[in-house]
Amino acid sequence: MIKFFGRGAAFCDYNNSSFFMNGSKMILIDCPMSTFHKIRKMDLSDVDAIDIIVTHTHADHINGIAMLIDLLWFTRNLSITVIAPNDAVKEDIRFALERLDGVGADWYKLTTIDEEKPAYVKAAIPTTHSEQLAGRCFGYALDVDGKNVVYTGDTNTIEPFLPYITDNTILFMEISSIYVPVHLFIDDMLPFIKEQTARGVKVYLMHLDNEEAILAKVEGTGAQLAPLYRSNITPEMIYEITDQLYKTTCNNTENDHNAIFGYLTALGKAIIGADRASFWKWDKRRHELWTTAATGVDRIVMPDNKGLVGKAITNKCVVVTNDPYNDPDFNSAVDKQTGYVTKSVMVLPVADVNGEFIGAFQLINKDDEKGFDIEEDARKLSLPALICGLALESDTFLDDAHHDRLTKLKNRIGFYADFSKKYMKYLEGNTDKPLSMFICDIDKFKLVNDTYGHNAGDQVLEHAAKLLMESCEEGENAYRWGGEEFIILMPDTTLEEATAKAEKLRKNIEASEFPADGVMIKKTMSFGVAQFVPGKSIEDNVSIADGRLYTAKETGRNKVVSTDA
Ligand code: GH3
Ligand code: MG
Ligand code: MG
Repeated sequence: MIKFFGRGAAFCDYNNSSFFMNGSKMILIDCPMSTFHKIRKMDLSDVDAIDIIVTHTHADHINGIAMLIDLLWFTRNLSITVIAPNDAVKEDIRFALERLDGVGADWYKLTTIDEEKPAYVKAAIPTTHSEQLAGRCFGYALDVDGKNVVYTGDTNTIEPFLPYITDNTILFMEISSIYVPVHLFIDDMLPFIKEQTARGVKVYLMHLDNEEAILAKVEGTGAQLAPLYRSNITPEMIYEITDQLYKTTCNNTENDHNAIFGYLTALGKAIIGADRASFWKWDKRRHELWTTAATGVDRIVMPDNKGLVGKAITNKCVVVTNDPYNDPDFNSAVDKQTGYVTKSVMVLPVADVNGEFIGAFQLINKDDEKGFDIEEDARKLSLPALICGLALESDTFLDDAHHDRLTKLKNRIGFYADFSKKYMKYLEGNTDKPLSMFICDIDKFKLVNDTYGHNAGDQVLEHAAKLLMESCEEGENAYRWGGEEFIILMPDTTLEEATAKAEKLRKNIEASEFPADGVMIKKTMSFGVAQFVPGKSIEDNVSIADGRLYTAKETGRNKVVSTDA
């Protein structure tokens, strides 16, 4: 039967085009560039000829034809025939292929339905679509595997196709969720769709501008989205991704693993033809699971005892469900958040090098035609799952190295990492915007330890860190510089503004009650403020603030100093 390389409108990733087999002949209906790229990677060893039947000449339907002809002519021994619906379209195609694309006339055959009607074509059906292509837009009535198939192509009316639609017809019709005069508008077509499915016509929707919106509208009508073709994985497809993965990892100067996770999810998707893939990281201390990449929305957090990911991690085994909405472990909250309708899910728990489970690799399909196979698919995904475990472990190490366990603030390593990633341009003078900082230190902190004990000292540090973190606005960050000293970095902030912020925080600290192992005590802090001077090193800039902090200590403590003594 007909399978789609893409079922999207012009501006989608994969444009509308499909194919079916007729013995060893492959018949393509249109060939946009996105289809060329898929065919390029297909195993065509069982194909001995390709026909392309053209519906109309919009770029998103024919701009892969020349590339396909080139590929087959230069690299494969495969004959290719382009079949136009009428003479006018044939001449347009000839002009495009020969004059514009420079394809040799003997590299392919160009003909029309009238000249040489293939047995699988019952009729080319003229229709109306864009004004510029009046008289040049067609759909087809086809014989595919002995079944009556009607394929509308792009059209703004269903009228011309009605005579060809009988009770058992398989109808591939274009549909649009946004009203445009050149396409069939979903709201207008709903009664027609219901009427057709009620009489036994199988309705498949194609050329979709928004799959989710269309799916929501046709729910209960019996219509389905056109079935996508899932190519068999070829080594070439895998190497393309692993090559990128390797190069990205080697060039990773960003101190983060997101690009690596991105390629690993792409690898998993390619290997088993899944629609989506994501990594879940297990935060055992917080009892949370959160995604690290490739979900299409910001970080999603879930409790670690919920959902299929939670189940895979808890039971330390691969989990598959091909009917999620009837699976009590499936958590549809993520679908609600993303507008996605999950049809099958597979989760592989992943471990670090010591065999500790630290996360999970999840794959999702939204097509009911293909479920996951717990044995076969898990075997195929073993390598990306293994690398995922190592990448998650490395991500965790990096995160731990950049954070202070007691206060949960970033530490001095985290400060330098952030600085080189986000703020280097300030030092290089490549921005007119000011960057300021203050360094602050708890006054007479040693007394807390000496009077109330070390635990009390730790609690005071935690409370101070909390007040500092809460004072940070968007873009600002607090770091534990060492002992009872902290730094706050403030982009787009002048010395005056930073001084005012420090003063506000100083008062807030002075007014606050600090828990100290069972008692509440009062503490104060001293502040040294500085605006970054371009051309000076990061250490020299911190020294300026540090010198001012020293002055604050020397001149009585519990104060903010923003000038040199
Ligand atoms: P000043 O007002 O001059 O800053 O006096 P201070 O007592 O705060 O400064 P000092 O540098 O003399 O003492 C800092 C103390 O902080 C010494 C050290 O034992 C303690 N300290 C450093 N890190 C920690 C920690 O993580 N927990 C606890 N409880 N104490 C710490
Ligand atoms: Mg101190
Ligand atoms: Mg100190």
